[in-house]
Amino acid sequence: MKKSLIVGFAAGVVASVGLVVSLPVDTLKSAIAAMSEPVEWSPTKPFPKHDVYYPGTEELAPDEMRVIACGTGMPQPRLKQAAACYVVELGNGDKFIFDMGEGSFERIMALGIPLDQLNKVFLGHLHLDHAGDFPAFYFTGPVNNRLTPVRLWGPNGIKPGWGTKAWAENMVEMWAWEEATRGAAVDPRGLKLEVNEFDWTAINEPIYEENGVVIRTFPAIHGDQSVSFTLEWKGLKFAFSSDTLPTKWWREHTVGADLSIHECFIPADFMMSKYGFTPSEAIFVGSQGHTAAEAFGKIMSQTKPRLAVCYHFQNDHDTAPAVLQAIRKTYDGPLDLAQDFMVWNVTKEAIRTRMGVPNHEAFPAPVQRQKQPPDSAAEFPFSKLSLESIDIESAAVTNQMIEEFNARNGTSVEPAYTGLPFKSQ
Ligand SMILES: [Zn+2]
Ligand SMILES: [Zn+2]
Repeated sequence: MKKSLIVGFAAGVVASVGLVVSLPVDTLKSAIAAMSEPVEWSPTKPFPKHDVYYPGTEELAPDEMRVIACGTGMPQPRLKQAAACYVVELGNGDKFIFDMGEGSFERIMALGIPLDQLNKVFLGHLHLDHAGDFPAFYFTGPVNNRLTPVRLWGPNGIKPGWGTKAWAENMVEMWAWEEATRGAAVDPRGLKLEVNEFDWTAINEPIYEENGVVIRTFPAIHGDQSVSFTLEWKGLKFAFSSDTLPTKWWREHTVGADLSIHECFIPADFMMSKYGFTPSEAIFVGSQGHTAAEAFGKIMSQTKPRLAVCYHFQNDHDTAPAVLQAIRKTYDGPLDLAQDFMVWNVTKEAIRTRMGVPNHEAFPAPVQRQKQPPDSAAEFPFSKLSLESIDIESAAVTNQMIEEFNARNGTSVEPAYTGLPFKSQ
């Protein structure tokens, strides 16, 4: 009885391999071995293996790359999947963010990485589902302990005012009040932006070469002034499509990439039933502005990465099998269907896919150097109207709170605003 149960379970594991194709053979072997050789686990020591990634608990090896999906979804906002965003961490200490779609900033913060270490952002194009969280990331950096300027890379424009430089300038202008008030409240040194605009038509030209890392772009076909990226370091190659139809450039320049992350859409039928698209909208959006799953499979068959990753669709119980089935018509190699917080550890020897376990109650990582807070009241003085509008009795209670805070902490912080109605009398 017991034996047949084990055999049945083992058969189930084997059968599922057809779907979970990236499951390493070694994992399967050790799982089967574990069934025949019971492992004794200590009742007091840590659990002897981790099948998940807890952010902040693992040191990167000097030759290791870690990629974390902080957004794998669509412009249709949902709790389960933010829009496009991938964090790449290297064993030399460098970190890069590729695309920063709506909702991705909270995923990034849940990793607990200091923002001072996440100051390099690369945008493949300027759609909201790839760039929409950048303003929040940039402007609220100072209240999240970022004291380092942000470096941004993005494509030039096909019209004046459309490129990344103009986009960033317009962003700063649009959020001028935000910047002034935010910068007056806490150390504002992180509110500096370096914009590096590159020629979106350049083919496989480096746009970044520092510290042994080379990042190149080639045109993405999605709407002119879009690009795809490759990042090369220590013989490892990461490729990220942003949004694109499969291109001859991708075919030429990502062959044999270690981790190849390319967009892929759900079948057009789902776009009609779930989004309410018309047939022509579904076909246009799902196969002419984006990559149909069958086409994703084809480009992966042609480029043969060590691991292919498809993203940019709602990865659900009903869509995932349909996407997988469509991809399998044209590609039978290693594949992951990306979800938010999927993590890939990449070395020359192995690629390991796990799910990350993020902190749902994240606070900012500690400051990386001494803070220099501004004189807030002097930097952003309130008008007579504002000062005279402060409720006197609430101000008195607040002043009392500040006194108690000072007594408790041995500080001598002066109330900036709540004290003024009294001081002026
Ligand atoms: Zn797009
Ligand atoms: Zn997109």
